[in-house]
Amino acid sequence: MSLDLDKRQRAMLREMGVRLWQPPSPPPVAADAAINTVAVDAPPKRAEGRFDVEAEPARALAPAAAPAVRPPAQVPVARPATGLQPRPAGVELMDWPALQAAVAGCRACALCESRKNTVFGIGPVAADGAAPQVDWLIVGEAPGENEDLAGEPFVGQAGKLLDNMLLAIGLQRGHDAAAPRAGLSTSVFITNVLKCRPPANRNPDPAEVAQCEPYLKRQVELLQPKMILALGKFAAQSLLQDSVPEVQKIPLGKLRGQVFRYLGVPVVVSYHPAYLLRSLGDKAKAWDDLCLAQAQL
Ligand code: SF4
Repeated sequence: MSLDLDKRQRAMLREMGVRLWQPPSPPPVAADAAINTVAVDAPPKRAEGRFDVEAEPARALAPAAAPAVRPPAQVPVARPATGLQPRPAGVELMDWPALQAAVAGCRACALCESRKNTVFGIGPVAADGAAPQVDWLIVGEAPGENEDLAGEPFVGQAGKLLDNMLLAIGLQRGHDAAAPRAGLSTSVFITNVLKCRPPANRNPDPAEVAQCEPYLKRQVELLQPKMILALGKFAAQSLLQDSVPEVQKIPLGKLRGQVFRYLGVPVVVSYHPAYLLRSLGDKAKAWDDLCLAQAQL
């Protein structure tokens, strides 16, 4: 059996560290015989660039009877690096800057692999870098594509609707560069249950929510809001899981119109603005929810 390797195959073996012994040139053969030899002995063709099959190249290209071709000591295999790490310890004791830094560097779930930015939240900035003390905390589900790019929650059309809802009750999204408009308050912090975007805007995975929850809990402890508005199913489930039995089985509509508690803070549940963009008829219910929340204050 001949070891009839072409230029590309030799280059592949060289990359793998396989040294080839070059046999003496075979005696000339008739043209037909040479064609038959190639048809029987040539290794099957592979797609260009697909170089991830362990040991297969050596098996296909080096027959057992060819002692001069040694298998490589180690064949490199391309695998995605996950790089997951435990969540930083002591989240429950962190101050605001430490919490921001912990979220920014967090690699505790697989969402860190695909995110462009972490989305900690947006609100007024306290002069000393401490957590701003706000009346309102708005909690959504997770960053979407726009939020991931901007590093800010609730941007895009859903964000505009939320801003208009807040304006209707005298609130303005706080921002480093933005002074509050006359008659408006920036006493509101906006965040999400998850701080990183699920790919393709899929629903959050329960394991991801569990990994990320301590950050939200610490945000609530440090912000000390007087009212939490939970927007959407995942925010409601996350905030009420310890106080409402089997909350996962309760439709969002049935959680509306009541005042719950999370860490002692009143919680009102409402629809997510992205849902309201598709279901205009429910905007009136969202307004009722805002009025209920405001009445508690
Ligand atoms: S989603 Fe939360 S737990 Fe997962 S990597 Fe982002 S910050 Fe960490």
